[in-house]
Parts: sequence; structure tokens; C-alpha cells
Amino acid sequence: MQNSLKNAIESKILPTVDKPMRYMGGELNCVQKDLSTVSLHGVFCFPDLYDIGMSHFGLQILYHIVNKQENYALSRAFQVWTDAEKVMRDNGIPLYTLEYFTPVRDADWIGFTIQYELQYTNVVNMIDLAGISVLKESRTDNDPIIIAGGPCVSNPEPLSLFIDAFAAGDGEKTVLDICSTLDMLKKRGASRTEKLEALSKLPGVYVPSLHTYAAKGVFDVPDMSTIIKASKIPVLQSDNYPLKPIVPLMSVVHSRLPVEVMRGCTRGCRFCAAGTYYRPVRERDPDAIVESIRNGVRETGWKEIGLLSLSTADYSCLSPLLTLASDVVAENRTSLSLPSTRIDALTDEQLQQLDTVSPVSSMTIAPEAASIRLRKVINKDFSDDAIYATVDKLLAYNIQTLKLYFMIGLPTETDDDIEAMIAMVSSIAGRVRAVSKRRMVNVSVSPFSPKPHTPFQWEKMEDPALLLEKGRYIKSSLKHLKNVKVSYRDPDITLLETVMARGDRNVSRLIYDAWKAGARFDGWDEYFDIQKWREAAVRCSVDLSRYTDAIPVTQTLPWHMLSTGVSREFLVEEREKALALVSSGDCRNGPCLQCGVCGNDLLPLFQTSYIVPQKVMASTVSVKKETTEHHFTYRVHYEKGENLRFLGHIDMSNIIHRAFLMASVPLAFTQGFNRHARISFGPPLPLGAAGLNEAFDITTTCAYDVNLTEINRWLPKGLVLLTVEPLSGDMTSLNASIKAALYRFVPFNKAHLDGIVEKITTFTDADTVEISVEKNGLFTQKNIRKGVISLTVSGGDSFDAVVSIQDGATCKPSELIRALFEQGTLNDFLLSRIACFRKTGSNLVKV
Ligand code: SF4
Repeated sequence: MQNSLKNAIESKILPTVDKPMRYMGGELNCVQKDLSTVSLHGVFCFPDLYDIGMSHFGLQILYHIVNKQENYALSRAFQVWTDAEKVMRDNGIPLYTLEYFTPVRDADWIGFTIQYELQYTNVVNMIDLAGISVLKESRTDNDPIIIAGGPCVSNPEPLSLFIDAFAAGDGEKTVLDICSTLDMLKKRGASRTEKLEALSKLPGVYVPSLHTYAAKGVFDVPDMSTIIKASKIPVLQSDNYPLKPIVPLMSVVHSRLPVEVMRGCTRGCRFCAAGTYYRPVRERDPDAIVESIRNGVRETGWKEIGLLSLSTADYSCLSPLLTLASDVVAENRTSLSLPSTRIDALTDEQLQQLDTVSPVSSMTIAPEAASIRLRKVINKDFSDDAIYATVDKLLAYNIQTLKLYFMIGLPTETDDDIEAMIAMVSSIAGRVRAVSKRRMVNVSVSPFSPKPHTPFQWEKMEDPALLLEKGRYIKSSLKHLKNVKVSYRDPDITLLETVMARGDRNVSRLIYDAWKAGARFDGWDEYFDIQKWREAAVRCSVDLSRYTDAIPVTQTLPWHMLSTGVSREFLVEEREKALALVSSGDCRNGPCLQCGVCGNDLLPLFQTSYIVPQKVMASTVSVKKETTEHHFTYRVHYEKGENLRFLGHIDMSNIIHRAFLMASVPLAFTQGFNRHARISFGPPLPLGAAGLNEAFDITTTCAYDVNLTEINRWLPKGLVLLTVEPLSGDMTSLNASIKAALYRFVPFNKAHLDGIVEKITTFTDADTVEISVEKNGLFTQKNIRKGVISLTVSGGDSFDAVVSIQDGATCKPSELIRALFEQGTLNDFLLSRIACFRKTGSNLVKV
């Protein structure tokens, strides 16, 4: 079964879809166990594309924790793009695991992480594509248990028709509790019901089928005898972080080494769901973070390190951390990024440090509201002067783009607040223009969405038509400023997000109906279709405004069964303070505000007294210092195997680059802002072709005995460095020197070789062979005859062609196939490039 599924994936999906590497697995550091030796197999399902899922650090953490256990295996599956979904449904290929090419439905349990409300239809779609009943009550004892975690499960009700159990809070502990419970019950042959009952006894786990529900006020809500509290870990232990994070073979949204710095935020922005869900703050020790960086760079070869948290500038030991990390960054020629940072919280010293370690060209300031009055409402209580001072501070650096984030439709917002936003952007644009006419201000305007478990959970979402009017007004009011670009989010997207976020079980029916009507990828502009949802709402008799209108504070909320730890009383009090324009302090610097999260076993954990060792301080002085480099060039021959024939050229060159870094080869780098290693490749292989004897040149800063075995260790299966030799004399670039290539075509179906000798004779005897080629929508005739230097049958099962690659007369392998076979395409053949040639006089010489 496994092999036939793998064959179907390789022959049906990979040759026909965009970005085939999304569907192949086989990445560096992915874990493949012998499934017959493990007692429990789970699948981590991410309800969005591989490119996004593989940028999610939670996946890497849970993957590591479970796979560290000898008896358990955790594999991965992602929502497939619509092209792959069509191929899978047309050919009966079920959703499968990337580690084992086994059907997801064969696993013991499936765990979704849900980061965003507009991924809900993708969850439903993945369950269906896996061949599992979408509705949980129809599942049998043979089906896997489906569990969901992630911040969106703080209101699980909209997914309650589809998910068996929800796990709220930090996943580190809960995931192993779930595994051991299911493992024990599996061994006992327990029923599905018994498993769900046992799961419901674990901390933070909610099993909707165990509760009746009834209408209370405007919502249908579950009956609860006790409230379930999200599970939290008191300390972020280093053991829980992956020693060897998976490194995707293709570029993903965040192609960087993720390193968590702290969890939680004490700022208390009143609209922010993450701010309450991840409380309290737990900071990691700087030494442990640097160890994660050092180890991660060694095991992944990533060129960028992302220091992750909700607001890394708030990390207590940021300055010492930057000092410590700068050594690793300099040693490995990597860069450092602080992806989610309140720039206003960075000190001058920290900005200087960041600029030294990793200069960046854009920075973000998020005032969210432009008037001081409205900033008091949302508890982002800094002055206009503080914002302008931050702008001025940033402009002293080489920041080319300043990004500004604002919200519209916030509680109590008036026209004056919109005018204040226009005035603030105009003032900032003036400051930027005074420094440089080339620097830009990008303004992002998003509608406010009231989220569960926040002080604003009872507020209304403003009417989308009004929000649209405001967005347009802001944009048109700023359009005379040449250095300002304004974008505003479609308010209908926020409407749907709000319905999902504050929905009850009726929204579950709505999701089911909309999915059946074709809703998918609702968070993607190209697929978002509010009309589909409005029609579904009519069919399901669901009034959308019920979920966007203001909710009375006395109303029982659909998410009342779950507590993030932050008490309802605290949220009510914060709401009242917002309306009275009273700010709340920050428990990092001031007294505890009694939000309710902390208790005996859970306290905020700050790192306050770290002194950087003297040795490190001395060494960081030379981070940007350039040395005089003597360069040495080597030619490396390598093989790209059949299994990697859908790996694109840029992704492959990134993988090879990383492997050289991991093997500590002293690569020479280009100079300038975007420094990159000096590795130059020959002409790219066509996508779908293997390469048996490919080449690239590398330049090192010293004479170096390149150890290929050490580098091969870091390459994925199928990519092998074969030989290395020093180069001297003619240094014409490899790409420019290669003039021809020998390709071998092996048909998957031998019938393609019927009459091949005659076809080849007809081709080679002709003076011209014209085919129609398309460029930018225009079709022209191309004579490919001169591009084919030789064409011969090789053995009994293939034919070879030497084709010209450059010099005007060229022929691509796909063009040759079209000329030889009326209906044929390159997908009918296993294509390999066997050799590349340069020209010496009129002779072709192998490179
Ligand atoms: S309980 Fe107090 S110290 Fe703990 S997160 Fe809440 S406000 Fe901060």
C-alpha cells in the first residue's frame, strides 16, 4: 500500500502541480522510524500550505518532543493547494504523511494546530481528504482520534462538529499526556468513547461530545459543571526545543532558524488575544538561548536566526543576549532578526547592536491608534512625542521602509481618531522625506475584531460598509504624499474572522455548509468569497450579525467552558477602565494586576541579572571587521538523484550552501548589503530532471582540504557531492562556459519507444524542425533542429540527445519531446542530464 501510494504521488501529483516539493518530505532532520516498532503513531496536521506550516515553530517543538520518545512517532501533513487537491481527488489519493507516505487515516491520532480562524474550512477539508468522516459523531473505533490545539481553541465551539477533543494552553506537556493515555487505551483495545472520556480528564482538554448544550440568551452554549483551565508550563525547558529542527528543501515563508526567547506578554493591549492566551511571561535564560542558536545553526545551516516571542524587545536580557549572539552570528556569517518587536521598546544601545549584527532595511512601528485618547482605551498608552522620537531614532539608521500598523473600528473610535491617524502619518512622512526622498512609509490599516478572552470580547465589530468607507477615506487623504503607501484589509475578511472567533455550535454548521459549497483557504485573497458565506448563512439560518454585534456582559459566552487563566473579573475591570480612559500598568515593571493567571505553580519568570562574560564582550567588537581574503576556487561535481528531480534550482543551491556552512568550510562571501557565499552553478536542470554529473564552483578564503563526506552528511538523500578539484587558470564562470548537455530520456511506458528509430531518422534528416512556442501570451515558430547536436537510441529502453544550451540555437528537452511525439509531454519520461560540455574549438569537452 505504502509503495503504491508513493508511486501515485510521484507520478500523478509531483509532475503536475505548482511547487511539488510541498508534497515530498525527505527534509534534513525529518524523523523516519520503523512504524512497525512504535506503539502509537500521530500526525501533526497544519491546516494551511506546507510553506506556512513549516514556518510554525510549535510544529517543530511538538514534533521533537513526541519523536524523542522511542515508542511514539509523529509525522506531518499539510493542507494541499487546490491543484494538488484536484489531482488527489481525481485519482483517489488520500491525504498522506510526508514521513512515511502512509494515509493519514491509518494513524492512531491526528493533532491540528489552529493559529487563525480562517483556517477552519481547511481543517474540515483535510479531514475529508484523509478519507475520515468529517462529522465526529459518524466516526468509528477504527478512525483516529482528532484533537486540536493552538490559540484559536480558546473558543472551540465553531469546530465542535469536527474535532473530538480540544487541548488548550501550552502543548509541551499535554501532547505527551495525550500520547500516553491513547497508547495505554489502544493496548487495552478501548473504544473511541473510552478514549475520549480518558482524554477529557487531562488538564486543559475539552471533549465537546461529553456535554449537552442549550440556548442561553443569544447563543447556544455547552453545559459545564466545571471550567477547564488551559494547561501552562512554568518554565520553558531547553529539553523541549528541537536539537535538530527540520530544514525544508524549498523556501518557506520564514526560512530561518526559529529560537524562542520568551512566551507571554505583560503589556496588556486590550484587543490582543495572544496577550491573554500566552500569559504569564516566561523568559529563557540567555545562555540557553545562545546554546539553541549555536546548536541550531550547526544542525540546520540556516542563514537567518529569528528570535521569537510576542515582543522580543521586552525580553529582560536583550542587550546581553545580542552581545552573546553576535559572536555566533559573526562566526557563521548568519544574520539575526527580531520578527515581532515593539521598536519603541528598543533602547538606543540595542538598536546600535542590532544594526551592527544584522542591519535591516525595514522596521515596523505599531501605534494601532493615532490619538492619545484612543491609545488609552486600548492600553497602548505612549505619547505622540514618543512615537515621533522612535521614528527619528530609526531614521538615523539605514531603514529604507518604515511600516506603520493602525486599526480602525476600535471601541469608542470617532472621526477625530481617523483624522489623527491621517495627521500622524503625514507628520511621519514629512520626517522621513526630510531625511531621504527615496525612503518610504508603508501604512497598514486593519479593522478591529473583538476576540474571546480579551477585555474587548463583548464589543461590537463595526459595520463592514463603514469600515470600508474609513479605509478609503484614509487612503485618499494620504494619496498626495508620494512617499506613503496605504493598504487596508477587506472588512468582510474581518467579519468572517469575528464570526469564527466568537461563534457557537451553530457556526460549526455554517462552516460545514460553506465547506461543502467549496469554501477553502478563506484567509487567502484569491479564495476568500464572502458571498459563499452569506449564502451558507441563509441556508443554515445563521444570523451573522449575532456574532459581530455587541454582547451584553451578562450573556453566557460560547467559550465559557475554557479559561486561559485570566479571570472574567479582570477582563470586565479592564473593559471598564478602557471606557474610562484609564491605563493599566505592566506587571513586568510594576505591581501584579491580579489578572488571575499566576498561582502557586505558575509565576512570571523574568531574567534580570545577567552579566556578559568579559571574553565575549571583547570578541564582539570585531563583528563587522573585514579581513583581507585570499581566494581559492574549487570545482565540485555532484549528483541530483531521481527522488529530487522536482527540487528547484534555487532551493537546491540553498541546500548546498547550507551544507557547506554546516561543515564549516571557509566560504568566501560577496561584499555589500546582501552578502552571499561565492558558489556558482552551471545551467539549471529542467524541473523534473535528475542530474548525474552536475557541477558548481566554490570559492574559499584559504586553501582548504574539502572533505566531501563531511558535507554530504548534511545533504538530503539523493543529493551527493562526488568529486572536488582545485581550479586555476581560466576562471570563466561555469554557467558561461557550458555550451551543450547530454540528456537521457527513459519512457515510463515502453510503448513510447515504438518507431523511435524512424522518428529520430526523420528528425536528424530534416534541415528545419519547427515547433510553436509561447512567450508572454504570444506564439511564434521556433526551429529547434540546429539546437540538437546528436540524437541516438541508447540501449533498448531509452534515447539520448546532445542539445545546445547557449549560442542562439537551443533546444529544451520539452521542445524535443513535442517535436518527436505528437501527444507526448516531458512527464511521460524519466529525464536525466548525464553530462555538460564546454567547447574547445569545434570539440565538446566534458565539464
Ligand atoms: S497574575 Fe499578576 S504577575 Fe501574573 S501575569 Fe497577571 S498581572 Fe502579571
